[in-house]
Amino acid sequence: MKSIHDRDDFRASLKDRKRIVVKIGTSSLTHPETGALNLIKLEKLVRELCDLQNAGRDVILVSSGAIAVGRQAVHIDHRPRKIQEKQACAAIGQAQLMMIYQKLFQEYGHISAQILLTKDTIDEDLSRYNAVNTFEELLSMGVIPVVNENDTISTYEIQFGDNDSLSARVAALVRADLLILLSDIDGLYTDDPRRNENASFIPIVRNLSEVMHMGKGSDSDVGTGGMETKLHAAQIAGNAGVDMIIANGDDFSNIHRIMRGDETGTLFVASGNRL
Ligand code: GLU
Repeated sequence: MKSIHDRDDFRASLKDRKRIVVKIGTSSLTHPETGALNLIKLEKLVRELCDLQNAGRDVILVSSGAIAVGRQAVHIDHRPRKIQEKQACAAIGQAQLMMIYQKLFQEYGHISAQILLTKDTIDEDLSRYNAVNTFEELLSMGVIPVVNENDTISTYEIQFGDNDSLSARVAALVRADLLILLSDIDGLYTDDPRRNENASFIPIVRNLSEVMHMGKGSDSDVGTGGMETKLHAAQIAGNAGVDMIIANGDDFSNIHRIMRGDETGTLFVASGNRL
C-alpha cells in the first residue's frame, strides 16, 4: 500500500497546499546580456502568482533584483562591492522594481504590498510579532506581499545576506505550506551539471544531511546564492516544518506545474513540525 511518503503521493499532495512563498532570484528576472529587467518574464511571473491567488491560495513573493535594477539605472557597469554603493543601488532599484510589480499585479486586478526585512526584524521578538501581524493582515485582505531584504540599511551584522535564507525565514514566520525557490538550475544534482556531465538529478530529498555536502557557491554575476545557500534555506524551512522545492526560474510555468503535482524540481521534505 502506498503512503504519503511515496514520491508520487507526496507530489500530488502539493495540490492542496494553501500558503505558498515563492522566491525569485535576480538572474531569473534579468537579461544575462545586459543585466536589465526581463519584462516579459516578470509579467509571466506576476500572471502565475495572480492565478495561484485566484485559485484560493495565499501568495507571498520574495523578490531579489533591487541592487541589479538600481545599478542599471545609474549605469554602474561593475557589481557594487562597497556597502554604501550596494545600499544606494538598492534604494534606487527597490522603488523601481516595486513600481513595476504594482503595475503588473494591478493589470490582473491584484494588490501587492512591499515588506522589507532585516535579520534583526525576525530575531527580535517585538519586531517579529509586528511583521507576522502585518503579513497575516495583508493575506487576509487578499494582498500579495512582495518581500526583500532591506538592503538600504542592512550591514553585515543585521543582514540575511541572501534571499534564499530570507525566504526560508519568511516561510517559517508565516507558517507557509510550501516554499518554492526559483533559480537558474532545475534543482539539486549530485554535482554541478555545468561542470560534470555525469552529475545526476535528485528529484526528492528526505534526509537533508545526506546532501548538504552537494552545496556549491554561486558563479552568477548578479545573484548572491548558489546551491549552498539553497540547502541552508532547506534546513531553515525544514526545521520549521515547511517543505521546499528548488525549480528552474527560466520557465515560470514551473509554478503551476508544481502546484498541480507534476514532477518538477527537487522536493525537500521537511523534517520538523510546523512551528
Ligand atoms: N536583496 C538583494 C537584491 O534585491 C538580492 C539578494 C540575493 O540575490 O540573494 O538585490
